Amino acid sequence: MGRESLRSLPKAELHNHLDGGLRVETVIELADAIGYRDLPTSDPAALTEWFDQGDSGSLEGYLASFDHTIAVMQTPEAIERVAFEAGEDLATDGVIYAEIRFAPVLNTARGLRREAVLEAALAGISRAMAKDDIVIGLIVDAMRNFPDSLSDARSAIRYAGKGVVGFDLAGPEFGFPADDHLAACRLVREYGLGLTIHAGEADGPSSIHRALARCGAQRIGHGIQIMSDIRVEANGPKLGGVAAMVRDRQIPLEICPRSNLHTLGIEPGDHPLGELYRLGFNVTLNTDNRLMSRVTLTDEFGFAVEHHGFRKSDLHRVTAAALNAAFVDDGTRRILLERVDAAYAS
Ligand SMILES: [Zn+2]
Repeated sequence: MGRESLRSLPKAELHNHLDGGLRVETVIELADAIGYRDLPTSDPAALTEWFDQGDSGSLEGYLASFDHTIAVMQTPEAIERVAFEAGEDLATDGVIYAEIRFAPVLNTARGLRREAVLEAALAGISRAMAKDDIVIGLIVDAMRNFPDSLSDARSAIRYAGKGVVGFDLAGPEFGFPADDHLAACRLVREYGLGLTIHAGEADGPSSIHRALARCGAQRIGHGIQIMSDIRVEANGPKLGGVAAMVRDRQIPLEICPRSNLHTLGIEPGDHPLGELYRLGFNVTLNTDNRLMSRVTLTDEFGFAVEHHGFRKSDLHRVTAAALNAAFVDDGTRRILLERVDAAYAS
């Protein structure tokens, strides 16, 4: 399949960070407008290179590049623009359903309240949905390494049914267990928001288990370290307790291949995407951070085809898996699935 045919396929994406997907020109313009002088360069090509954290091989190094995008997202106008442009760029890439996430607490450095931050993002998303053929839901992130996740949860539930569809824990995984945020997780679930948690990106199966069994996550962000709970034996792979739970309950895994290559320093063919898929795990394909990983969902589809043997029917299956795992009402889900099925049938 050529790139253009991959781009034209209707796609769905569950794991996409708002502050990881800015246009580089927008970063420069916003920095200029607010007098932010700390960008490494104001040349678009050079800044594109800089953000492409290529082989940093460290999640912490990768996360540090967010300082700049977050610094320019401190006014309602900037946040609205970034959210609108994210929707526009995703639609251009053939994405018909997206969940975009960010941590509003990080956008309060210049005095905005979480609610103002969320309203600005929701306004940008509404504008993108009015312009383009795309459905977008917002996921509110709390940071694992911040103490006040309950305030994030409270702000998220205020916009349940008004554009906010889910809640997530993001940030450094080691040393910051998901169940430190049990109260926040319980609150959002009580109010009917979807719950996904970054787990098993860097840390192992026990981190995934905490997210699922203790916090009640419905989906797992990344989850690729589940591989360390799978042993290859002579008579086939042997799944440990957590791996068996994740597979047998068909917990959706939000796999973001390029992001993992960058933060974990692994080779394309060594990424566990293909193996997890063939073992029957509920795999979805996502970009994580389009700017820092210099990637689109079309690129991730191409990655699956080129490095892991995915055929068109496999791409159909992971797209349907994403829609089935989406935090969306069933009526919308059915319409989106029908569109995807029709496109793959033609
Ligand atoms: Zn992520």
